Amino acid sequence: MMLSIVSKMTGLIYYKSEHMDRYAKERERMCKEQLVNRGISDKKVLDVMLKVPRHNFVTEENLIRAYGDMALEIDCDQTISQPYMVAIMTELLELKETDRVLEIGTGSGYQAAVLSELAKEVYTIERIEHLAKGAMEKFEQAGKTNIFVKVSDGTLGLADYAPYDKIIITAAAPAVPPPLIEQLSSDGGILVAPVGDRYSHKIVKLRKIGNKTEETHHLQCIFVPLIGAYGFNP
Ligand code: SAH
Repeated sequence: MMLSIVSKMTGLIYYKSEHMDRYAKERERMCKEQLVNRGISDKKVLDVMLKVPRHNFVTEENLIRAYGDMALEIDCDQTISQPYMVAIMTELLELKETDRVLEIGTGSGYQAAVLSELAKEVYTIERIEHLAKGAMEKFEQAGKTNIFVKVSDGTLGLADYAPYDKIIITAAAPAVPPPLIEQLSSDGGILVAPVGDRYSHKIVKLRKIGNKTEETHHLQCIFVPLIGAYGFNP
């Protein structure tokens, strides 16, 4: 089989044609078996999951499992979430193309890349500088101009650009950090996060109207901990 390397950059290898086809086929299978069969029905979310190259966000040794039905380890003992978890949290956010979104926990950058296809702007905060830099490089290489990365404690949010139409936390929180509720739009803003104790949590969806919030509870899940002022201790 002919294999042509187009360019090799920090941890990323882009292959031409046959390999792109292979990954496209794997994405198709992932969408059908892991997402559609489990009830993901938002066509816009499915289209984006079909399009975003998840293999660009995993480590080289995990390339073979890039479209597998699981979370995968990335650097610094963190993880890229399972495709189904990314899809369901994205679906719960009810994204509109005019939305400004805040993500806490950039990690590999995959979830932010998915969000950026469905929203106007994505602000993403990561506490580990090495991961933030890696994600930023990937966004640059992909020509993304609507994702802004910041290294800080995301439990405090990013007040300078608030309010946000949507907020997503991609690490497990003991409770939704109050600064994030404050920074959520009071005009129907939606926040989605895994909430619970350190090793077992549930996806919570919070909708804010005026100064009231209503909460619905969704699936059980396991995430790495949210660490910070309104998170867990390191
Ligand atoms: N959305 C990511 C998932 C990353 S895992 C992806 O698509 O790959 C969760 C990430 O949250 C980790 O990278 C971890 O370092 C980060 N994190 C934990 N506590 C944080 C905090 N208080 N502020 C910002 N990032 C945090």
